[in-house]
Amino acid sequence: MTEHFDLLSIGGGSGGLATARRAARHGARSAVIEGARLGGTCVNVGCVPKKVMWNASSLAWGLRHAADYGFRLDGSFRLDWSDLRRRRDDYIERLNSIYLHNLEREGVTLIRGYARFVDERTVEVEGRCYSADHIVIATGGRPRRPDVPGGELAIDSDGFFALDRQPHKVAVVGAGYIAVELCGVLHHLGSDTTLVLRKDKPLRGFDEMLRDGFMEAAQADSLHVVTGFDTARLERASDGSIALYSKDGRCLDGYEVVIWAVGREPNTDSLGLENAGVEVNPDGSIPTDPFQQTNVPGIYAIGDIASKWQLTPVAIAAGRRLADRLFGGMEGRRLVYENIPTVVFSHPPIGTVGMTEEEARARYGDAVRIYTSRFIAMDYALSADKRRTLMKLVCVGPEEKVVGAHILGPHADEMLQGFAVAVRMGATKRDFDDTVAIHPTSAEEMVTMV
Ligand code: FAD
Ligand code: NDP
Repeated sequence: MTEHFDLLSIGGGSGGLATARRAARHGARSAVIEGARLGGTCVNVGCVPKKVMWNASSLAWGLRHAADYGFRLDGSFRLDWSDLRRRRDDYIERLNSIYLHNLEREGVTLIRGYARFVDERTVEVEGRCYSADHIVIATGGRPRRPDVPGGELAIDSDGFFALDRQPHKVAVVGAGYIAVELCGVLHHLGSDTTLVLRKDKPLRGFDEMLRDGFMEAAQADSLHVVTGFDTARLERASDGSIALYSKDGRCLDGYEVVIWAVGREPNTDSLGLENAGVEVNPDGSIPTDPFQQTNVPGIYAIGDIASKWQLTPVAIAAGRRLADRLFGGMEGRRLVYENIPTVVFSHPPIGTVGMTEEEARARYGDAVRIYTSRFIAMDYALSADKRRTLMKLVCVGPEEKVVGAHILGPHADEMLQGFAVAVRMGATKRDFDDTVAIHPTSAEEMVTMV
């Protein structure tokens, strides 16, 4: 017999859970189908364990600089990687249980297993069929692994979180968020780390000031960055270490661990989408209209499989708005994919919202005015180690509307959220100027640029 719901979310990650829970709050009979651990990528192998590791690596940085403030640590300090991992994994297990309790409390049915479409209203999970008026596909993605000889010798971000001991020497291949974050974590925790870029800088698509600033910070931190190295193959040496060879014949060798961080692939290949007639892009993602609707009425796609913004709050926001529209009487409600703030948890962190200078100049030409600030944050006041914090406001038109804000430096991660509200509300440079500064902070530089 087929069990019927008002809404079925396929995937119990950020997007699927948010949609089903919001639908239930509006009184809909909703269910989530999840084949693995509740919480999806973010909770289990993404944002959450990453942030724990970033916190650990930031603490390590603090310990190294504690002597500048007069602390005597009497020699070295040592990280117990297994202890850190155990505490991190326990924390995640607690989150898994909280997610389960939330579903129970809110009356959302949890169906365990992997779903496959039977037709446009029905899916099958472990031999049982479930139908719904509205089906939301929120199946997320998995790490992409280049198809090169020896590629299997490397791990990916999932493998990083499964490491049971700290690698002595590690190479991270890639140029996006994950490559930048993982190499920073490993380097600051004390692994001999190399970031392997196939081009000249990481973080393509970010403001050039941030990309250059990252390269400067990497150099100041003595992080090895190899540029123009397009990995052609990996080989295991007789001592067990791994060597990388580039297409132009260069070799990087002696790595205990190599990590691929070269993007993610959508989990849409085993969903039986053809049975429901859902169209798929050549890269496996699912095209939707601005209301998350696929080409099949009543089937929606949200989160990483449907957006170039592969961020947890984006998946959640899209899902909640969809449920508000379907069951909350909020006609026309949808996520507008503009001015989405985002942070790269690098060392130091990067925060960015809105247009880059390059994008603004391409669109508005001479109407663009740029304000920048480059200063040494007070974090380094007593330190010989002087790092520059970089800030930029991208303004447009005679009223100097702020269309982009970019920060690289300590606390950029916590600084950005409030400025994102201002940018979203259409603040002008004058609004920034008229805001009284908070002293002494780094953030005050955002409202004192001339
Ligand atoms: P997911 O969270 O991936 O959930 C999809 C779920 O669907 C999974 O649980 C999967 O098991 C399940 N599933 C798949 N197929 C089926 C099926 N057929 N049937 C049933 N269930 C199925 N974002 C941020 O905003 N901040 C960060 O700091 C951040 N850090 C990250 C760090 C890493 C290392 C990674 C990999 C990602 C990070 N992200 C971060 C991105 C964030 O994790 C994703 O954008 C977010 O999880 C996407 O949510 P989703 O609901 O689309 O998919
Ligand atoms: P990204 O898409 O961010 O970056 C991958 C980059 O790797 C590409 O842009 C490319 O850059 C480079 N690359 C691709 N193929 C190769 C190759 N064969 N060899 C070397 N380099 C290659 O992917 P990530 O895996 O880093 O992250 C996936 C998504 O997860 C992110 O886009 C982000 O949305 C999300 N995420 C968010 C985080 C956050 O919010 N803090 C943290 C982590 C992930 P190029 O072409 O310039 O070489």
